[in-house]
Formats: sequence, C-alpha cells, structure tokens
Amino acid sequence: MNHKSIAIDGPAGAGKSTLARKLAEKLGFLYVDTGAIYRTVAVKVLWEKADPADPAQVIPLLEGLEIHIGYDSDGVQRMYLEGEDVSAAIRKHKVSGMASQVSAIPEVRAFLLDFQRKLARESNVVMDGRDIGTVVLPQADVKIFLTAAPEARAKRRLLELEQRGQEANFDRVLQDIKERDWQDEHRPSAPLRRAEDATLLDTTQLNLDQSLEALLSLVKEKIAL
Ligand code: C5P
Repeated sequence: MNHKSIAIDGPAGAGKSTLARKLAEKLGFLYVDTGAIYRTVAVKVLWEKADPADPAQVIPLLEGLEIHIGYDSDGVQRMYLEGEDVSAAIRKHKVSGMASQVSAIPEVRAFLLDFQRKLARESNVVMDGRDIGTVVLPQADVKIFLTAAPEARAKRRLLELEQRGQEANFDRVLQDIKERDWQDEHRPSAPLRRAEDATLLDTTQLNLDQSLEALLSLVKEKIAL
C-alpha cells in the first residue's frame, strides 16, 4: 500500500514540531520529528566525548548506533539511544548546537536517510525537518515550508524553554537561532532551503490555532482525506 506523506521543513523555532504533531494527530498520521533524531546522534557524540565538528570522530560512532523512536500517550515523540530515554537530554542547549554540527556531516545524513525513509514507507507520516521535501521525501504528497521572522521564532523558543523550567535569555536565544539558521542554510550537504514545489507558510502573524488551520487547508487542497 502506498502511504501518504506530508513534509514540513523550515528553520529552527518556526513552530514545526508543535504544528506537525497536531496536524498528525488530526489526520491520524504518524508524526516524525527528524530534528530529534539528529539530536540523538549528538547525544551519542556527547557521551563519547567526541568533537561534533570532526567527521573522523563522528563517523565511527554511526556503526551499530542504536536509535529508536517511541510515542507517549499524547503522541509526543520520545527518543531512545541504546535503550536509554534521551528525550530530555536532546533538548539541552548544548545539544542543539552539536546537532547542527553533526548534521552537516554527509555520512551522518546518509545514515539517517534510510532510517527516515523506512518510517515513511511503513506509515502515513507528517515528517518535519530541514530537508524532508528536498531530499528525504521528494515525492511527498504535500510539502510545506514553514517559517517566521527570527524575532518571532526566538520569542516562541524562549517561552518553550521557560515552560520547561530552563533558564533562558531572549538575546541569546535569538543569536542561537540566527547562528543555527546560518549553519543549516550554508552547509554543502542538504542545506535548509524551500523545495520548489513547497508551499510557503509564514506564521509570524499567526497564533498556533491559526497556523494549524492554514496547514490543514493546505493539506486538504492536496490530498483527499
Ligand atoms: O529541528 P531541530 O531544531 O530539533 O533540529 C536540530 C538540528 O538538526 C538542526 O539545527 C539541523 O541542523 C538538524 N536537522 C537537519 N535535518 C533535519 C532535521 C534537523 O539537518 N531534517
């Protein structure tokens, strides 16, 4: 059976994860946050005290890497590394930067490509990331490029961090977001860019419900549900 896939790409803090999860819930599709998978690789690098910027140190860690995805009762994705639940660890500030670094290594991307495609072969998915519409699922039924002004994204990320009880500062969050955007857009391997056939959705002026409505109507235009 051919499964349906919805690709949602965009920069950090555009609301991809929350929106993709809610969209998946509405549609009864599996939600896959691919950033969390890159973050899990970064945790492995951290565990092994390897340098995330050095491919020679990172690539050997891929062999036998044991990553699993699970879901809690709310449909929230959980990540397991070698059987350990690393869902909290992957959200640490340090890990965000490291994920961006390891994701620039072509071998890391190639390794995760099969992993991600397999998920889409086995289920209807809403997959969010940076290169889903361009590289991972170029044949996706719906492609959306979700973005918002950096300041709006920083504000949302700050709120998210505060809700998790983590200390945060607006200027630092904004700077991090801009740095990660730059890294993700300028890496030679699968850089962040909008697929030609992706619909742009700018959520700067939209709240969560409005963004979800906009997403749903885009999806309904493309696939019969
Ligand atoms: O989306 P999130 O911020 O959790 O992603 C963490 C990092 O993983 C991003 O900064 C990006 O460098 C990388 N990533 C990627 N390709 C994806 C998803 C995430 O390169 N499909």
